Amino acid sequence: MEKIIGVAHIHSRFSYDGKLSLPELKSLFQKNNLRFALVSEHEDDFDEKKWIALVEECQKLSDDSFLFIPGLEINYAGGHVLCFGLNQPISYMKGIETLKEANKAGALIVFAHPHRSRYRVGEELQQIINGVEIWNSHYDGKWSPRFLSYKLWQKVNREDKKIFAFAGLDFHDLHHLHGPRLEVASSFSIEAILKALISGSFVIKKDEKIISAFPDLNMFPLFIKSFLSLCILGGYKFAGNIFSFFPKSWKRKIKLSLRKNL
Ligand SMILES: [Zn+2]
Ligand SMILES: [Zn+2]
Repeated sequence: MEKIIGVAHIHSRFSYDGKLSLPELKSLFQKNNLRFALVSEHEDDFDEKKWIALVEECQKLSDDSFLFIPGLEINYAGGHVLCFGLNQPISYMKGIETLKEANKAGALIVFAHPHRSRYRVGEELQQIINGVEIWNSHYDGKWSPRFLSYKLWQKVNREDKKIFAFAGLDFHDLHHLHGPRLEVASSFSIEAILKALISGSFVIKKDEKIISAFPDLNMFPLFIKSFLSLCILGGYKFAGNIFSFFPKSWKRKIKLSLRKNL
């Protein structure tokens, strides 16, 4: 057993809005001392052929030092659900049937950025998910989990079905890199890392901050940090409109430097 640090909720160019290829991502992640990445491409334009191409490229780029764990981000009830570690093609029926199939195939299933679904998890979905993404640094900022997502996790996590708190980068471009990491105590294989994650044997790490997969967070500081983080992101988006007349390459550089830690 060793402590292995990686990142989750990664989009490459296999997604219509991902900016980096898988080889570029591997090199970036390795430079940042990360050893695995849970990939979750948007399912929108996927078919079996594209899925097989993704799995093959993930396998080709995985070695003794780094692992890509393939997966999809499935559209469901106006929101998104992450399915990681799918090792067989699933039908693209969309919605709950796809998710049930992924669940049966042993995938790790996480309810993504709950605010986009207005914090609603249907009964059927609740039976299937392993975790709730309490911290999506793309939408929630890089300071803190989102208060209301944490509250949702508290609500759905029950004694008879343990659901863990999860964190992802929702990585599409370089400025998404410095969000929360996942640390698992596991041997170094896709199967072992997935098993550790599914059983909730991991912690969320961001700089000095360590959050358990079953956290008991102090509500008031969490509320303040989450509120401030969202205000800063709102301010940043407003400022983005001011920069909108700048050339594209300038805007990307400004975005990268401003959002590095936001
Ligand atoms: Zn999403
Ligand atoms: Zn995403």
